[in-house]
Amino acid sequence: MPVNLKPHNTLSLTQSCETYVEVNSKQELTDAVTRVYKSASPMLILGGGSNVVFTTDFNGTVIKVLSKGINVTEHSDHYSVSVQAGENWHEFVQYCLQRGMHGLENMALIPGTVGAAPIQNVGAYGVEIEKFCHQVEYYDYTSETINVISALECQFGYRDSIFKHALRNKAVITEVVFKLPKKWIPNLDYGPLKHLEADDIGAKTIFETVCSVRQSKLPDPSKLGNVGSFFKNPIITAKQYVELLAEFSDLVGYAQSDGSIKIAAGWLIDEAGLKGFSIGKAAVHSQQALVLINLGGATGEDICMLAHTVMDRINEKFNIQLESEPRIIGSQGEVSI
Ligand SMILES: Cc1cc2nc3c(=O)[nH]c(=O)nc-3n(C[C@H](O)[C@H](O)[C@H](O)COP(=O)(O)OP(=O)(O)OC[C@H]3O[C@@H](n4cnc5c(N)ncnc54)[C@H](O)[C@@H]3O)c2cc1C
Repeated sequence: MPVNLKPHNTLSLTQSCETYVEVNSKQELTDAVTRVYKSASPMLILGGGSNVVFTTDFNGTVIKVLSKGINVTEHSDHYSVSVQAGENWHEFVQYCLQRGMHGLENMALIPGTVGAAPIQNVGAYGVEIEKFCHQVEYYDYTSETINVISALECQFGYRDSIFKHALRNKAVITEVVFKLPKKWIPNLDYGPLKHLEADDIGAKTIFETVCSVRQSKLPDPSKLGNVGSFFKNPIITAKQYVELLAEFSDLVGYAQSDGSIKIAAGWLIDEAGLKGFSIGKAAVHSQQALVLINLGGATGEDICMLAHTVMDRINEKFNIQLESEPRIIGSQGEVSI
């Protein structure tokens, strides 16, 4: 019997899957994944559904990861925290804060699960998970083995990791181990946190500031379907940046360690006059140009057509190719937008 995926994706798209399975432990997760892989039916691992776009009905099995458990080991200078993949990310950040284990507070309120967080190296307000990720445990369903890799081996990059490349379509993340140093250094480098005073600030203040800024800026998916930022911030050459700057003097760029420049995709979309632009029931948010929203009843096709139009317009105006951040899911698995 097809199952409607609307409650399981934050864009509130009403596509269905053939079979829907919830797993509540690591063992249930590895068993289910092995079973579906061996059946040769298309399979989609799903956490909170906050980074997927269902373009059509999924002709296979969705495995929803709900495995729970957090285990803390105290060392002389840090805490080692092992977290099951199905734990909710924000609740985990709160858990750490309440126990005096600091570092993750800049990433408060990122929706989704702990298991999905390493895949795109989630980050916000100047901190990415790679800074505190120690190890990732995954189950390779092609070889039926449990493996543990270090943060270095995860090959973290901007919204990127090995799980999008060499381990794509073969690994399900079962557990993530974080290393949270006892000596806490606040990270106040980013926009709305800059005015806070490093000397007398606590992690709780950062947590609360991040939550309140996010709540004021980003649409709540329970009210207005969205997947957060729809496009990655493009990284361009210094030469192209200088050329664009001659035409668009307020284009802000952030120099990267290799000399390239990261620019804000939201700024490009805003400058192209696309805020509020809509196709069908999908629209560019009128305040947050980087966020595509479901106005109610949008189809995956509406969202993709809108995304394409935005990408085309940005390419025409700035000669920059935007890339989508969420994973685009077709009838058999992930597809390219
Ligand atoms: C309002 C809003 C704000 C957001 N803000 C941010 C932000 O500030 N920073 C940021 O980085 N992201 C942000 N995101 C994106 C999203 O929250 C993250 O990408 C998050 O990590 C996705 O988690 P999930 O559990 O919902 O993943 P899902 O959407 O369920 O899955 C995403 C992908 O990961 C795969 N996957 C999920 N779990 C596993 C697993 N255990 N093993 C293997 N593969 C798995 C899925 O198959 C899919 O391909 C935002 C999204 C929303 C809706």
